[in-house]
Amino acid sequence: MPKWVPVGGEDRFNNLQSGYRLLYFLDKHPPSPDDVALGVSAPAPFISDTGAWSNFFHELLGYGPKDFGDFERIIFSFQDGIEGTSMAIKRKVSVFIAFPSLVMKIAEGLKENAPILAKARLKENFKFVNLLAYLITRVVKIQARNLVKVHTGVFAGEPLEPYRKALLEAWNLQHTYNMYTSTEFQISFGECSEQNGMHVWLDACLPEIIPQEELSKERDQEGYTPDAIPLWESQPGDEGELVLTNFAKTFPLIRWRTSDLIKVIDIGECPCGRTHPRINILQRSDDLVNLGVIRFSTFTIKEALEHISKPTTISTWQIRVGRKTYKPLLTVIVRPETIVDEVEIKESVQGALDKIETLRVGWENDLISKPMIFIDYNLGDRLSSSGKHRPLVYEEN
Ligand SMILES: [Zn+2]
Repeated sequence: MPKWVPVGGEDRFNNLQSGYRLLYFLDKHPPSPDDVALGVSAPAPFISDTGAWSNFFHELLGYGPKDFGDFERIIFSFQDGIEGTSMAIKRKVSVFIAFPSLVMKIAEGLKENAPILAKARLKENFKFVNLLAYLITRVVKIQARNLVKVHTGVFAGEPLEPYRKALLEAWNLQHTYNMYTSTEFQISFGECSEQNGMHVWLDACLPEIIPQEELSKERDQEGYTPDAIPLWESQPGDEGELVLTNFAKTFPLIRWRTSDLIKVIDIGECPCGRTHPRINILQRSDDLVNLGVIRFSTFTIKEALEHISKPTTISTWQIRVGRKTYKPLLTVIVRPETIVDEVEIKESVQGALDKIETLRVGWENDLISKPMIFIDYNLGDRLSSSGKHRPLVYEEN
């Protein structure tokens, strides 16, 4: 759902100022004028907001503030595959700003298309390196790292941790940082060189956390208003919803509930010397099936499954969100109303899932693993510790 918030001139200036502190992203590899940043966005129906980050490119590359109009922006869909990756090679991209899953998707595309790409380059510009590149592809499987030298990646939108190893292997991406921002809040939190949680800038906001127990009470008791505690008084390991108050003049946020679940990493001094608390975003939500770039409401899947009537109806279901290697994996467990043919009911469930477009396009394009379907005639009999059947379970932090 598109959304907008008003941002005043002074607020914009302050947001940019706090953005500059993220230039430490380039401490380990100082920028050069030759650096080219590539932002990868996803087409509809995927969630993607990296288009709004173009201001950040110049900051990252050390050029200081710029207006939106000053940028060269080339936008391609990852579904354009070969043209996009070919452009990335030609422009000698060295910095990524993207969702980690999309950058891995490009790496997979490069691996598949390396021979075609190398041949095309050989045709248009016969040089020894091109010939070499072409010959290499005929002998060994070429990786993205052989074609593009990217030194730094700034990632947001989904947890970076599961992708770090794969990014290093595919791109030789040595420096990867997680970042968090939102349309409403505008200020970005980022990881430091410790790569263990994002610093929450206490001079830019008053962060609070609604602990998990309070969220459960709110879910179970109608009209209950949960208590929040200041983030700087929380304990490492605490989990809960992030609440933010900022000092914006035009559109101030006062105890704004972000709907994002966080885990507190530490509130003491970081080994990097900064004293701002560190958090990780858990990307879990009771109302949202969150598969990184692919997200849809739990209501959508409830409707899809509860519409099944052949060979019987579904009496109980559970969605589990996990991962197969680095790719998000959705597992759907259903309890049919009566004992039925397993193949038939699985086909019905698959048909219901296929109607969720973002999910279908996601696995068809290999951005997520193909959903797995299981039948369990005892589903719902074994209750969770809270005594309730949970329709959506996240298997990882
Ligand atoms: Zn730090």
